[in-house]
Amino acid sequence: MEENMSAVSQDNIYFGKEVINRVSFLREDNEFVTSSVLHPSTRFIFFENSNPLVDKESEGKLVILSNGDNQVSDKGGVSKGLFSAGDEWQQVLSAWSEDNKNQDMSLRETGKPVFVFLGIEDESVGLDLTHLKSLESSEEKYLDYQGRYQGIPYYAVDLSGCGSVRDLVVDHILKNTSVDPSKLFFTYSRNHFFDLGEVNASLYSHAKMFVEWISRNRFCPGCGHAVIPVHAGGKLKCTNDTVAEKRSEEDVTYKCPVRNAKSSNASFPRTDAVVIAAVASTDCTKVLLSLSRRYAQLKMYACTAGFMEPSETVETAVRRELWEETGVSCSSVELKMTQPWPFPGNLMIGCVAYVDFNGSNEVVHLGHDKELADARWFDVEFLRGLIYDFDNTPNPDSLIIPQDVSVAYQLIKSVVDAAPSANSNSSENPSNKL
Ligand SMILES: [Zn+2]
Repeated sequence: MEENMSAVSQDNIYFGKEVINRVSFLREDNEFVTSSVLHPSTRFIFFENSNPLVDKESEGKLVILSNGDNQVSDKGGVSKGLFSAGDEWQQVLSAWSEDNKNQDMSLRETGKPVFVFLGIEDESVGLDLTHLKSLESSEEKYLDYQGRYQGIPYYAVDLSGCGSVRDLVVDHILKNTSVDPSKLFFTYSRNHFFDLGEVNASLYSHAKMFVEWISRNRFCPGCGHAVIPVHAGGKLKCTNDTVAEKRSEEDVTYKCPVRNAKSSNASFPRTDAVVIAAVASTDCTKVLLSLSRRYAQLKMYACTAGFMEPSETVETAVRRELWEETGVSCSSVELKMTQPWPFPGNLMIGCVAYVDFNGSNEVVHLGHDKELADARWFDVEFLRGLIYDFDNTPNPDSLIIPQDVSVAYQLIKSVVDAAPSANSNSSENPSNKL
């Protein structure tokens, strides 16, 4: 069974394609940060209230602008760079890199954009450096830092509360392209997020998780003092300078347990781990899908999912969630794939849970935590029909399964592909009509 399980390419999972070399150690290098944010090739992705700026009519949808001219035209972006918009943009970049270097309190000031260094697009993720070197141009096409790190830097920019910089960016796009102003906006629509294309989807997910983490965390969890984003947005630093020695019975000042901790892990970006499992009979002929109350009207039947608890293994979390939600007991859990899920900052850990039918393990009982509206065992051939031949598959209840960009869909499909086909002697899959 496992041998036939169709391979899912982890690299192509939506939101999870590796398109940037994060060079995370360079976030602390002020010289690098300053030279990268001011480089002509550097590209920016813009956010307001955690929503990305998109041009709905463009191919990749996400608006990506560079500092210099003719840097992103090959990707359908705006050929005029932000440097051409006047001195204001350059001043914004210089002021931010200075504040970043000094870890200045004003990094959180209203009206100042928050910049997050995402990484560099380099040869490790497929950038054709030789081609860029051959281009005749007065503009530098990529950053060469100390002869060791060569590529195109990417930054996310949070423009929330930054009216003038926001207007500068939007005016620049409208002035230099024929984009219809009504198609240019900061979007919160999941339909847009699921239609970005795999490269832009991954850039969006990466940038959004950092931007949203910074915007949601304004005060230190240990002492309540303000925190500021340092290391180009890679860390939040508590501004409480109280030291331990000053504390006494009369002194109510409070030493910060985060700032003074040997390992201050509350200051780093947070990812919440979620287990998600397609639940199958051990022979893969039956699949258990759940209808959450949230999607009851849509009739969208999906996988079992839930947040991991502290000190739980993935396998234990899957077994617990399955039993709590459906009453079903599984005998084994197999890890299949993972997917970043930027709503708001999750990592979906995709598994298949196998249930050994014995008259008891497989019995559905929704009475434990009452999260579900329904859970049912489906014949795998019905699901094969929904995936490969939706229009010709009898579906009296008009059920749907999650979209193909989700790990839930990929997990269900992996079980379907592993199951022996009832209608064919061959092990070939039916033609993929999606
Ligand atoms: Zn603190």
